This record gives sequence, structure tokens and C-alpha cells, in this order.
Amino acid sequence: MINKVKGTYDILPEESSRWQNLETTIANVSRLFNFKEIRTPIFEYSELFHRGVGESTDIIKKETYDLTDRADRMLTLRPEGTASIVRSVIENKLYADPNQPLKLYYYGPMFRYERQQKGRYRQFYQFGAEAIGAHSPLVDAEVINFAATFLEALRIKDITLKINSLGDNESKENYRNALINYLKPNVHELCGDCQRRYQENPLRVLDCKVDKNHPVLTEAPKPLDFLTDADRFHFDQVLSALDAIGLEYEIDKSLVRGLDYYTHTVFEIDTDLASLGAQSTLVGGGRYNHLFESLDGPNVPAVGFAFGIERLLLALESIEKEVAAPCIHCFMIALGDDVQESALKIVNELRHGGLICDYDFFNKNLKGKFKQSERLNPIINLIYGTEEMKHNCINVKETKSGVQETVSLDQLYPYILKLIQNQSSGCNGNCSNCDDC
Ligand code: ATP
Ligand code: MG
Repeated sequence: MINKVKGTYDILPEESSRWQNLETTIANVSRLFNFKEIRTPIFEYSELFHRGVGESTDIIKKETYDLTDRADRMLTLRPEGTASIVRSVIENKLYADPNQPLKLYYYGPMFRYERQQKGRYRQFYQFGAEAIGAHSPLVDAEVINFAATFLEALRIKDITLKINSLGDNESKENYRNALINYLKPNVHELCGDCQRRYQENPLRVLDCKVDKNHPVLTEAPKPLDFLTDADRFHFDQVLSALDAIGLEYEIDKSLVRGLDYYTHTVFEIDTDLASLGAQSTLVGGGRYNHLFESLDGPNVPAVGFAFGIERLLLALESIEKEVAAPCIHCFMIALGDDVQESALKIVNELRHGGLICDYDFFNKNLKGKFKQSERLNPIINLIYGTEEMKHNCINVKETKSGVQETVSLDQLYPYILKLIQNQSSGCNGNCSNCDDC
């Protein structure tokens, strides 16, 4: 038997509706913020990621899936979205769009050769957004607000927004020099990866997962203390915009994020939901003002974020348990051979009215039909036999309360709609609180 590749998973039918719900929320919230979707290929020339993500990052050092095609081209399965988006914006000259900033979002699979754990896979999905073409700190805040609003729409509440600033090139260089001087006598105490990072790109040392609580790192100089006045001003403006929106944040002076291209604002949103275990970062992002140039494009500033979808689904697990929603609206229990076609016709009409319906195609006995209904968990069971067919009516049984009514067929659709509406508003039909009672 051939099994799935290590680090991958199948999304089986009973899981797929959770993905579809998430995908709908992505599209809806993106529309609210007027971000438009962009779709790029899942593989690109390797050079794009080497230059775009950064030679010294963990992603490029250890995690890419590289391949050569039959004409010996060096290709890489995309490990993240931003480099491809920037490539496409340059190639298609989208940066010249009169609507600035250009607001784009993407959704799709990414590939990293990592050790598989809960919330960490080799093929995983990201939803990301990029606002391209504006230096304004209001745009940093807009992007952060977009990420936070998305979590709010998913009802994920136990979150912490962490934010920091690296500043632009001058601030980053000043900080880099201070960090090198500080680490020189201490670096031997840190892990092997950190020793390599120290040589190649000392900022990466702060992103170490092994030594993050080591005193050498906790006591290291922090980027915020090396910001130029202009860069400090930018950061203050971002914070003040977040204050105005009412978004709570925590300044995390050690936050640098795992990619080389960040300048100014970096942020992430973590959750303390137990279902995520160690992989508690739901989204990471930041500003990248020089990536376009390093990919031979014009000088265009940008800011973006990327969510890990699997972690969102894990976070949603605990919330979904609280509200186990019914799976479908109606299940048809048609009793007797001569009513089957007429029952199918009723089901078909309800479906055309937007109601999710299912049916027993195996002509099970009554007990078997109710068993199937239990599994499908409908809001309503429709019970239909020869007597009902003769009198043009049907029995409508609410599964939650067990209340049953006989309803004439021409009133069935509005009757069910009202019932569903009442259920979702918590009305029992006699609450004296809502408009109808
Ligand atoms: P981490 O620190 O968890 O390795 P990262 O810094 O590598 O994350 P980014 O490259 O910024 O992460 O990606 C953004 C988001 O994508 C992460 O916050 C996480 O939710 C998700 N993510 C990253 N790598 C994986 C993976 N291998 N499997 C599942 N989700 C992932
Ligand atoms: Mg990583």
C-alpha cells in the first residue's frame, strides 16, 4: 500500500466543510477591507526564494523542496507567499496601478521540509495579505487590523498581538553592529544553529526557538533602542493608529520574525488556546520596504501578513465544541414505496430555496431512517407517508425540542424558514422578546 508523504494529510469529507467555512470567511473579510485575491503558481525559479526570503533564513537553509525539471531548471515549491506576489507584481507591473496601496490577498498550499508536529506540516496552507505601495504607518495598522478582524470574525478570542520595530536600513545596521559586539564573547554558549546565524546574519539569533529563554538572548540589546528618530516616529504612529482603532497590543522587544526582508514594523498574533500546544503563533507579518528592489523591481514599500490555516483550524476546534451546530436543515423520512417520488420532489423544491436537505436512498425501515437522521443531525425531520400525500401535507418535527406539527405543503417552505430563523435567534416561538412574538 502506498501511503501519503510524511508531513502531508488528506482533508477528508467530514473535515472539508470546516475548510470551506474558513475559506468563505477569508473571502468575506478580505472584501470588507477591499483586498483582492491574487493566485500565483506553487513553484517558481529557486532564485526567487533564495533572494526573496534570504539565504540565511531557516527556510532557505533547511526547509525548501528543490527540484530540477527535465530541462535542468532549478525550481522550488513555494515555502511562503510574499516572494511570489512581489515577483508577480513586478512582472505584471501592478505597482503602477493608480489605486494605491495595491491590496492583495492569497490563499493556498506552501511547502517546507520541517519536522512534523501538531500545527506543523510539510504541505500546509497559508492565507496572507500584502498592502503594496505606501509608506504610511496607517497602512501598517490597516494590515494588522485586517488580521485581527479576521480572527474576530472566526470568534477566536484568546489572542495576544505582539509588535516590534526593526527600523529601516540605518537602524538595522546600527543594531546589527551592537548585537555582534555583544554576542562575540557569549555566542559559544548558544546552540549550533545560533553560532552559524551569528556568522551569517546575527539578527536571526533572536529568532532561535531552542535558546529563546537563554540569558545571553534575553539580556541582548534590543532593536527598539537603535531606531533612528524617523523610524521611531513611524513606529509611534503605528501604535497610535492601533490605539485609535482600539486594538490592544504588547510591545515585544525581542520579536524579529523569521524572514530577512522585514523593515520597520514586525508583528505576530499568538493564542493561548491549549489545542495549539507549542505552535501558538497564528499569524506573522511585517513591513518590507526593500524586497521589491532586491528582486530587481522599483523602489516600492509594502507590508503584509500570513496566517497558518491548520493552526486556525486547531484553534477553532475548541470553539466549535461549544456550539455543535446542526449539520443540515432537513432530513426527509418518506414512508412507503408510493410516496418516494413525491417526497423527492418536496426535497428538491426546498433545496432550490437554499435549504440543505438529505434523504434515505436505501428505503430503510423507520428505525433505520431515524438512526440516519441522528447521524446527520438536521434541524428538522420531515415525515411523509401515504396519508400526508393524500392530504397534501407533511409532518415537521423539530429535532431539538421534539415538537411536531402537520403543515400543508404550500406553507412548508415559509414555515421551515421561520423555524430556522427562530432557532438561530434563540426564540421558542413564544418568547415575547422578538419582533414576531
Ligand atoms: P514558526 O515560528 O511557527 O516556524 P514561521 O516564522 O516559520 O513560524 P512564517 O513563515 O511567518 O512562520 O509563516 C506564517 C504562519 O504560517 C505561521 O505563523 C504559522 O501559523 C504558519 N506556518 C509556518 N510554518 C508552518 C508549517 N510548517 N506548518 C503549518 N503552519 C505553518
Ligand atoms: Mg518556521
